[in-house]
Amino acid sequence: MVQDLTLGIDLGGTQLRAAVLNAKGEILRRKAVATDVVGGPHAVIAQMVQLTADVSGDWRDRLRAAGVSSPGPLDLENGRASDLPTLPGWFGFPLRDMLREKLDLPVVLENDGVAAANGEWKYGAGRGLANMVYVTVSTGIGGGVVMDGHLLHGRRGMAGHIGHMMIDPNGPICGCGGRGCFEGIAAGPAFAMKAQAQGFADGKAAFKQARLGNATAKALVDEEAEWLGFGFCSLLHLYSPDVIVVGGGLSSGLDLMMPGIQYQIGKHAMTAFKAVPVVAAVLGDNAGLVGVAALAMEL
Ligand SMILES: [Zn+2]
Repeated sequence: MVQDLTLGIDLGGTQLRAAVLNAKGEILRRKAVATDVVGGPHAVIAQMVQLTADVSGDWRDRLRAAGVSSPGPLDLENGRASDLPTLPGWFGFPLRDMLREKLDLPVVLENDGVAAANGEWKYGAGRGLANMVYVTVSTGIGGGVVMDGHLLHGRRGMAGHIGHMMIDPNGPICGCGGRGCFEGIAAGPAFAMKAQAQGFADGKAAFKQARLGNATAKALVDEEAEWLGFGFCSLLHLYSPDVIVVGGGLSSGLDLMMPGIQYQIGKHAMTAFKAVPVVAAVLGDNAGLVGVAALAMEL
């Protein structure tokens, strides 16, 4: 039997997804269930085993390896979960080795932001480039960095926690305990709160109204673009990417925010960095699955 397929598993605080992919990064079968957060790590491992059986079916013998994408921070050296804010009770859990044993496959573990960055780099908006920063703006802000043709990992694989760059010392307290983090100011929940304070049902409604020309909604969107522009300026100066790729729920409004983002980059970035394009991600919420499966293909 030729082992030409890989399994991608994307562990999220809300959804657990699995897919079987071929060597071209194409998803052949995919399935998602609600993550059994309350059941804890052992219950979720059982869900992963079941999902694997469901998506692989008669292709089980063709699987060569599995990749698991998980929220961080993770201890990638030891393949363990660390203090995952959305998944209580996982601290120190040997996710990689446990799954290796249950699936009887080689397993690679990766931070969700880095996995998604790898997906967009190999098969999406950053294809063919040697340097890229991927930023996802949704419930949180995460991402990953490709530098000189390699994924950037850093100590224990924790590099690229973009959401926790401090951009306003007087900003709100972040979920990480810090103050004024990029995530605490510019992620979906922060935007939704500001939108609700202005009478909109949620963030999505504000974007919709901005598209229809509502001045209050446009001001909210402009403010969001301003914060994203601040963060992106730092990313340009730190990593000197060929492109900044933006994914996550809020990226559906990227076209509306682009003038504001470009304005801030024009104003605050050093001249040599101003021309770097900011573009929308293309793989949507499959970026993590595709990226981690690509890592499994390299095992
Ligand atoms: Zn933070």
